[in-house]
Amino acid sequence: MYNFSKIIGNDIIKDILNNNLGHAYIIQGSDNESVNILCEHLILIYVCENDIKPCEKCLQCKRHLVQSHTDVKYIDPKISPKDMRAIISKVYLLPNETQNKVYIINNADTMNEDTQNVLLKIIEESPDYVKFLFTCEDNHKILQTIRSRCILLRMDNSDSDDNFPIDENIHKFCEQFFSSFITNDIVNLMKIINFKNRENFKESVKCLLIYMQKKLKNTDNNIKTIKKITNICNILNEININLEYNLNLNIWSAYLLNKCTESMEEA
Ligand SMILES: [Zn+2]
Repeated sequence: MYNFSKIIGNDIIKDILNNNLGHAYIIQGSDNESVNILCEHLILIYVCENDIKPCEKCLQCKRHLVQSHTDVKYIDPKISPKDMRAIISKVYLLPNETQNKVYIINNADTMNEDTQNVLLKIIEESPDYVKFLFTCEDNHKILQTIRSRCILLRMDNSDSDDNFPIDENIHKFCEQFFSSFITNDIVNLMKIINFKNRENFKESVKCLLIYMQKKLKNTDNNIKTIKKITNICNILNEININLEYNLNLNIWSAYLLNKCTESMEEA
């Protein structure tokens, strides 16, 4: 159970984190302050030893709050690949004080490619107690190979989505998907969830997630609708991440349809 009382809005992010706390996140946002608040909050969640995390009262929380936690390590994004290798070589040493070791790279989108490449393997194969947090303004400036190993937390105040280019057919798909989903039109949804090829599927899921997140910001929605859209955003996010590893069109199309049906029945 996590306490997000300090995080304003960003319900999708809270849902993603509550659902399953992962080991590597990219926090993206145009407002540096809110990005840092979320990042620091996640560090506390990782180190806190109470059941409702973060408590900000336990020894571990307090240690981090005074910036003296030995298991919390900030890495300068400008360091050389050689220095990064030196840091990475110590990842396998067990945490000193708490159950996790947290590595933070702020402004990760300013890291050079060689340094990023050093990180690749360790993000994928790190021990369970190792956690990575990257903050950035633009996740596209981080290598795709790193992005695919992390969960992207896009903060609400980020406006980069507005410039996201959407193909006309995909836009039409998003509109139809949304209206069918909201009106519980399963028959039409079955017709729509029918993708030409893998690339089309990948692109459609990515755009649909952004489209649905925008719809979520519409304040006219009632609580039931918000819940329903949030639910499907989480599913789309999950599919989006998994598509990087396994691009079986049929499995994921069926999964999407199945989850949509479940959400409709719940609502
Ligand atoms: Zn605590």
